[in-house]
Amino acid sequence: MEKFEKIVGFIRESFNTPNDFIPLHQPYFTGKEKEYVIDAIDSTFVSSVGEYVNRFEREMAKVAGTKYAVATVNGTSALHIALLMAGVKKDEEVLTQAFTFVATANAISYIGAIPNFVDIEEDSLGIDPAKLEKYLEEIVELKNNEPYNKQTGRKISCCVPMHTFGFVSTIVEIIDVCKKFNIPVVEDAAECIGAKVGEKPAGSFGKLGAFSFNGNKVITCGGGGAIVTDDEALAKKAKHITTTAKVPHQWEYKHDMVAYNYRMPNLNAAMICAQLESLNHFLTNKRELANSYQNFFLELEVPFVTERSGTTANYWLNAIMFTDLKERNAFLAYSNENGVMTRPGWELMNTLEMYKDCPKDDLSTSNIIFERLVNIPSSVRK
Ligand SMILES: *Cc1c(COP(=O)(O)O)cnc(C)c1O
Repeated sequence: MEKFEKIVGFIRESFNTPNDFIPLHQPYFTGKEKEYVIDAIDSTFVSSVGEYVNRFEREMAKVAGTKYAVATVNGTSALHIALLMAGVKKDEEVLTQAFTFVATANAISYIGAIPNFVDIEEDSLGIDPAKLEKYLEEIVELKNNEPYNKQTGRKISCCVPMHTFGFVSTIVEIIDVCKKFNIPVVEDAAECIGAKVGEKPAGSFGKLGAFSFNGNKVITCGGGGAIVTDDEALAKKAKHITTTAKVPHQWEYKHDMVAYNYRMPNLNAAMICAQLESLNHFLTNKRELANSYQNFFLELEVPFVTERSGTTANYWLNAIMFTDLKERNAFLAYSNENGVMTRPGWELMNTLEMYKDCPKDDLSTSNIIFERLVNIPSSVRK
């Protein structure tokens, strides 16, 4: 209990909040959000077309280090369309980590594809490339150079690594393994805006990447997302299919395929343009908090998750590890009862009712992380 008291005390001190509730991650609006939103209202372009949407797509491509970005209504829809653009079809399998937010598995399911869950590694919290390679050697049979799962007979049409809490996964190695088996990669980059390997942004490594601007993410516009890619044809197709596949014409309603209304409204785009201007400040501010947490937890001998060398995390959500499930649960109860919001990691996807029968590899590290990890307050500090 003394340890828990010290942790909660340090978090309160860090946020200069002696008594009030401290959320896990709250948005921060001190830039031009109001100015741009009012400008969008004054322009009357509040909905699915407008200058802020175009501006956001240009600026997002720069931040993601890709040639193109397509704005979407949220991160889940971005992921759904990125998977379609990567060629995923009904009844095919998509590899992804069991330790992720449910949207990753849901986007796969929207297509009628089946997730195949693989394990993560302890230091990156992303897919373990060595274990992935071993698993693929076991299950994959190449037919006409296309990867099939021998055990289920289904084609394996994509792999979706996720950059957990803004820590970059071992993405280069994961892509190398997937290449050997002819499996394209779509990055679930929902949590990792601004994170990098060397100087290259996370989200720009795969064939496509998907970002989220939900209210709890590093930057937000209430709800929003983006698909990023270097492939011009895929970017154009993604824009078309997310905007009801309308064939451009001044007045005619011509649509050339069944498509989606996944457009980001110009109102939200106005907000995210303003948030993008604050991104570097947020990243510096969050890094300072992470450094201060790191020193504190080192002294307390509680493992604190840090970026791997050669990578830059965005420290979206800081995470600590307890010794076991019992201690984790005791801390969750203690901190939340004392007004400091903390959260366990996600229930593993393979334990959720709708995904319990999906194929999977051994998930022992995912299990250990689930039992030990707790996210602690990580907002940008005033
Ligand atoms: C937030 C998140 C998403 C979904 O984004 P929304 O904008 O909420 O739809 C997808 N994957 C991961 C890993 C996320 O954290």
